[in-house]
Parts: sequence; structure tokens; C-alpha cells
Amino acid sequence: MKDFTYVLPKDAAEAARAAAAPNCALKGAGTDLVDRMKEGVTRPDTVVNLLTATDLRSPIREENGRIVMGGAITLAEVAESELIRKVAPGLADAAAEAATPQIRNRGTVAGNLCQRPRCWYFRNDTYACSKKGGETCYSIEGENKYHAIFENVTCNIVHPSNLAPILQVLGGTLHVVTAKGTDVVPSDIAVKDFWVRPEEDISRENILVAGQVIREVSFPIPRGTTGSSYVETREKASFDWALTSCAAALTLEGGKIASASVVLSSVAPTPLQLEAVEKWLVGKAPSDALFREAGTKATDGATPMRDNAYKITLTAVVVRRALSAAAARATGGGK
Ligand SMILES: Cc1cc2nc3c(=O)[nH]c(=O)nc-3n(C[C@H](O)[C@H](O)[C@H](O)COP(=O)(O)OP(=O)(O)OC[C@H]3O[C@@H](n4cnc5c(N)ncnc54)[C@H](O)[C@@H]3O)c2cc1C
Repeated sequence: MKDFTYVLPKDAAEAARAAAAPNCALKGAGTDLVDRMKEGVTRPDTVVNLLTATDLRSPIREENGRIVMGGAITLAEVAESELIRKVAPGLADAAAEAATPQIRNRGTVAGNLCQRPRCWYFRNDTYACSKKGGETCYSIEGENKYHAIFENVTCNIVHPSNLAPILQVLGGTLHVVTAKGTDVVPSDIAVKDFWVRPEEDISRENILVAGQVIREVSFPIPRGTTGSSYVETREKASFDWALTSCAAALTLEGGKIASASVVLSSVAPTPLQLEAVEKWLVGKAPSDALFREAGTKATDGATPMRDNAYKITLTAVVVRRALSAAAARATGGGK
């Protein structure tokens, strides 16, 4: 690992000012960043440790009809929060399913959203892949078992964060501070607008630029007749990322689906909002047959690679299970 300057800011504003320096990396718990630094994939001149910024540790709370939390709240705190479990159990499930107990005890919400993809060609510094400025996406002809089955055009990474799809489904917002000269300006970014597709800029996965820090994350408290869920499949029970995942929120009125939000993850470079499936669900009565058909519809347009067609079947499964769980919670009331 090469030498770097280490900054311990007292708050998000100081962190943003420090992060405006060239070739600077922000560090939450470092479970992703330090791994990349050790592999030589990320070689920052400056590292800003966000864990000393007290406002990033603002507690999980209810505020003006929203749930708000600091960007450095841990996955374990989200998973164990009684408030989140009550109003948005899908988010608690997503946090509880991520990684391992050790990583959940350290890994932060903002770090989880901004973690870099797990593509083994990207993570290995001996491969000059197109994401790292090279000319080839090695997964096209190489090992692509864990790669994308949707939107796999220029770069076949899959989005790795458990929290991303469920925060998108819940209509989440990222509260960001940006250093502009000596000023620090707050702004809000909707989670759905946060992602960058490889065709837009292959070198990054979200719209954050140097000098920007996620200070807090929030989402509106779902209505009483809304149920939320997060379901994933993976090879191992722990210490692993999802093969396919789906987050869903359904609002029921008079026994029918009044609104639906469904987002796939782990199957495309960014979280994938299933707008056609959402429209198709609205006005229909929830049933296992309906959700099974929705699962099949969710796989329309998939373009699997040599080794990952199995993800089509698993996608249909997670969509059906996520919709069933969301509907059950919606009828249970208050979730
Ligand atoms: C074995 C293993 C299994 C895992 N399985 C899963 C899984 O199933 N699901 C899942 O979702 N994750 C999984 N992970 C990833 C893990 O959850 C993330 O590494 C962790 O959540 C990242 O949080 P962190 O605070 O350590 O981030 P860091 O490593 O500190 O940072 C990650 C990235 O986020 C940026 N960043 C951090 N905080 C901010 C901020 N406030 N503002 C702007 N940018 C910021 C950093 O610059 C960096 O680029 C797994 C990890 C391991 C090692």
C-alpha cells in the first residue's frame, strides 16, 4: 500500500473541504476501501476518515414524516433498529442479510451505497479492464458467472449494495455536502438519480464528485397500508454478496394494489427499477399466481452471458418472493 496523508475531520463540512484535494478517498469503516488499497486498485494520496465526523453519526430517528440517519450509521444499527423494523422492515432485512456480523458492525450506510463493484477483473490490478481505463471488458470472453444479465453493454459489473434497491424503493434521499472553495453547500440527491451507468461514465458508479460527502440518508415513512421487503439469493449463507436480489414496496387499497415499486439488484450495473412490472401490477388483487407472473415478466429483456443464465430463474424467484412478502406486510398493516 502506498503512503497517504490521513485526515481526521470533526464534521462533514471539514471532511468535504479535505475531500476536494486531488486523488482523495473518503473512508467510512474502510471494509471496501482498504481492501482496494491493499490490492493496489485504489491508490489515494489522501484518505479522509469519516468516522471522526460527528454529524455523520446522527442517530436513526423520525423527523417531519421521514426516517433520517447519519451516513456513518452501521448496517447492524439499521438491522437492529426497532423504528426501521416497524416502518420499513424491508430495509432492516436488507441490512441484516448483508455480509457478516463483523462487517455489519463496522460497515456504514453511505459506504454500503458507494462500495465499488466486486467484478474480479476490476478488483485485480493485473487486469487493465475498461473500467480501469483499459480497452477490454474481460468478462465478455472470460469468467462471467457473477456478472450482469441486464444492461450488460460496455461493462458487465453488477451493483453490490443491499441497501441501494430498498432505499430506492422507499423513495430515499441522500443529503450531501459539497465543498465549493471554502464554502460547504448542502444538497439532496434522490437515490433513484444517484447511479451512473457504464455507458454514461465507465469509471464510476454514482454521481458524487471530489469534495462531496453523504452526511445523512432519509426516506419518507411509508403509509400504513404499504408493505416493504427485500429478498436475495446467494451461494453461501454468510460472507457473500447476492446473486440476485429484489426490493419491493406495495400499497394496497380495497384489496387491490394501489401502487408498486420494484427494484432488482445484483443483475445489472445499477439498481434496476421495473417500471413495466409496476404498472402491470397496479389495480390487480395480490395473489401467488400474480406474483409468479410478475417474476417471469421481470426477466423480459434479459441478455445472459455464457455462464450466468441461471440468474434468470433466480430473478423470477426473488421478485415473486419479494412481492409476496411486501403484500403480506401491507395486509398486516402499518408496515
Ligand atoms: C466478505 C464480504 C461480504 C459482503 N457481502 C455484502 C452483501 O451481501 N451485501 C452488501 O451490501 N455488502 C456486502 N459487503 C460489503 C460491505 O457491506 C461494504 O464493504 C460496507 O458496507 C462498506 O461500508 P464501509 O463503511 O466499510 O465503506 P468504506 O470501505 O469506508 O467505503 C466504501 C466506499 O464508499 C465511499 N464512502 C464511504 N462513506 C461515504 C460518505 N459518507 N460519503 C461519500 N462516500 C462515502 C468511500 O469513499 C468508498 O469508495 C460485503 C463485504 C465483504 C468483505
